Amino acid sequence: MATIEDQTHDTGDDYAENETLILDMLDRFLKTEVKPYVHELDAKDEYLHEIVEKMKEMGLFGCLIDTEYGGLGLSTSTYAKIVDRISAVWMSVSGIINSHLIMAMTIQRNGTEAQKREFLPRIATGELRGGIGLTEPDCGIDLQAIRTVARRDGDHYVVNGSKTWITNSKYGNVLALLVKTDPEAQPLHKGMCLLIVEKGPAFEVSRQLQKLGYKGIDTCELTFTDFRVLVSRVIGGKEGLGLKQILSGLELGRINVAARGVGVAQAALDEAIAYSQQRKTFGKPICEHQAIALKLGEMATRGSRTLAHRFRRARL
Ligand SMILES: Cc1cc2nc3c(=O)[nH]c(=O)nc-3n(C[C@H](O)[C@H](O)[C@H](O)COP(=O)(O)OP(=O)(O)OC[C@H]3O[C@@H](n4cnc5c(N)ncnc54)[C@H](O)[C@@H]3O)c2cc1C
Repeated sequence: MATIEDQTHDTGDDYAENETLILDMLDRFLKTEVKPYVHELDAKDEYLHEIVEKMKEMGLFGCLIDTEYGGLGLSTSTYAKIVDRISAVWMSVSGIINSHLIMAMTIQRNGTEAQKREFLPRIATGELRGGIGLTEPDCGIDLQAIRTVARRDGDHYVVNGSKTWITNSKYGNVLALLVKTDPEAQPLHKGMCLLIVEKGPAFEVSRQLQKLGYKGIDTCELTFTDFRVLVSRVIGGKEGLGLKQILSGLELGRINVAARGVGVAQAALDEAIAYSQQRKTFGKPICEHQAIALKLGEMATRGSRTLAHRFRRARL
């Protein structure tokens, strides 16, 4: 299979031309490797192992990572188009790269050079795959209230606590984990940091959560019991910066979520148009009834084009 990376580098100078090639290749992948299997995988809530392997081959796990660190170095507006196309076929697939890339970009923007060289190339290939561990059973939006503590012990931290709703944590193997190194610090964020944690003993996936929708993707509760992490894994090498780092990383998640909305809205519009042209009442296709035509027109303008305009402007 040709990879996105091949096409990015082979075609050289014109970014717009590269982007077209990349999106065309993505469309072919979605048409042949995803669309035929969506209903079955979604109904069974079955993990998308084969799709993930193909996404690795295409370089999607490193699409935003700089080429210097083994990624494709794409822009966030190209990323929004990628997420839009994926979501029009199956939104769950976009979740596989969302928190993974938030983690990746948090390291790329804030990590030490040694951290970038150690982790980003493996994150770009998908050898290391994961996301962000922020939310806890008693705390979501108010992240300064987290209770997971990392206590210093020589050149390690000893982590104790639990996280919940963590995407990519069952089948993934790495997380940017938000912890408190000093629970007494004031203001609270001064006692927080982000640790790059790879799975190991004492990092337990305690429960996979059942969801009403957004099937096929793993979202779990995690428990850390005296889990040891090297001090060198503090993103940026300095305590007290974790909240700021992750809040800026979450901006990418907002672009992803907005682009998902565009993709889903566009798919709904396409389906509605196709159905309204095929379904007949009172001797004509229902799209020829004025009330239906008005609804379709409203969907096209409000549900899709406005959002599409917004995500096209996506920039970090
Ligand atoms: C499918 C799924 C996947 C997820 N994946 C991840 C993941 O990978 N990693 C991760 O760390 N988390 C993840 N989350 C958790 C998600 O980030 C949290 O659900 C989110 O941060 C909100 O937290 P909460 O649900 O605890 O709501 P709370 O923080 O308890 O808030 C409850 C409600 O009150 C509102 N509210 C809170 N404070 C205020 C205020 N000051 N003013 C007005 N309104 C307020 C909130 O908007 C919300 O509607 C995931 C969640 C879901 C559903």
